[in-house]
Amino acid sequence: MAENLAPHWRLREQRYQLVGNVCLNCGAKYFPPRQVCTECRGTEFEAFQFNGRGELYSFTTLRQAPAGFEDYAPYSVGMIKLDQGPLVEAMLTDVNEDNLQIGMRMEVVTRKLRAEGERGVLIYGYKFRPDGD
Ligand SMILES: [Zn+2]
Repeated sequence: MAENLAPHWRLREQRYQLVGNVCLNCGAKYFPPRQVCTECRGTEFEAFQFNGRGELYSFTTLRQAPAGFEDYAPYSVGMIKLDQGPLVEAMLTDVNEDNLQIGMRMEVVTRKLRAEGERGVLIYGYKFRPDGD
């Protein structure tokens, strides 16, 4: 029973938090989680929850949003270099593009991304914003 529930549970966890995995052989950390380690080819992993803090590595501003995101255009998408290792691509929020700077401190937030379907199911996801500290 528990095994049947596991994949869905993992997907939810991955969506709401920054949960990746760590290679048990060499310690390399991944987000999103991987099945095979690119460092050592290891295949044994353990779930790892990132603290969600890092630096802005690069960013771009989209003037024309894809379907479902029209209300958000223009918006910025960035690559964040997490303090704990991997680069994560995510939408940026709570910041004017003019104030974005490579290397600035960022933190993850969980936000509503869009409503989907006739019942308006809300889709949440992670975004990054400038670290308030
Ligand atoms: Zn490894």
